[in-house]
Amino acid sequence: MVIQWFPGHMAKATREVKEKLKLVDIVFELVDARCPLSSHNMYLDEVVKDKKKIIIFNKIDLCDRAETAKWKSYFENKGYTVVYTDAKNSNNLNKVIDKAKEELAEKIARQVAKGIKPRAIRSMVIGVPNVGKSTFINKLIKKNVANTANKPGVTKKQQWLKLNKDIELLDTPGILMPKFDNQEIGKKLSLIGSIKDDITPLDDVSLYLIELLKYNYLENLNNLYKINVTSEDENVFIMEKVAEKRFKKIGGDYDYDSTIKLLIQDFRTQKFGLITLDNYSDLLENEEHDEN
Ligand code: GDP
Repeated sequence: MVIQWFPGHMAKATREVKEKLKLVDIVFELVDARCPLSSHNMYLDEVVKDKKKIIIFNKIDLCDRAETAKWKSYFENKGYTVVYTDAKNSNNLNKVIDKAKEELAEKIARQVAKGIKPRAIRSMVIGVPNVGKSTFINKLIKKNVANTANKPGVTKKQQWLKLNKDIELLDTPGILMPKFDNQEIGKKLSLIGSIKDDITPLDDVSLYLIELLKYNYLENLNNLYKINVTSEDENVFIMEKVAEKRFKKIGGDYDYDSTIKLLIQDFRTQKFGLITLDNYSDLLENEEHDEN
């Protein structure tokens, strides 16, 4: 089944983001540190064009640091500035302000040289749903201003919040969802809660989670459910092993529905431990494949 990942209201939200982008000097793109590539908007450069950008790997407390570090280098090699944050616990947020000032230092120096008194730097936060945009804004300014409920397409009067004397931040984050046809990206976005469950085939998503775990985090998978599967085992077979451990059979059959929900819930509540869904060597393999 091909999933319609891009509901209509998202197109409207994207248009709104483009409008707001005109107002700012620098963009903070929040991605989820557990899948920095999949939650990154690959059209960011096209959309944001000449603005400065900082990519913020938020939820750094939830990821597998070794794997995510590879993605940091990947983005840095493409010329992006990357900052790690844990917005929920207010970790490293000031680093974002420092980096923004660094990025815009030249522009400010040019204005000063021309005798222009530099106005405050204007910034905004963008990102796919659920990466922590509102939390980030609220913690950064230490007040509840950004609504944590996702309401793309709902306009309200926007305000500039002062981060310090040099930087202002738009109080409403921009929700940007790229149009993509890669089903794997869609499934990862579903796991991190960016796509609503009611438009997602959760059976596919949970089998995909099993696949990622069996190749990259087999021990975590076996430990959590006290099973003993291998990466050679079929995904459905692994699901049945989990079902066997956790649920009673229904009419002689495995309780697939409950198992599907359990797997996804266990990922979302970090029961598997620190996991990074985007695997760097997979990207290299795909690139090699494309070249051949
Ligand atoms: P938004 O849709 O991008 O505005 O995301 P929210 O700010 O509403 O955050 C979504 C969920 O992620 C909330 O439950 C937050 O508490 C949680 N969250 C945000 N930032 C972090 C973080 O850095 N670490 C962790 N563990 N959770 C976070």
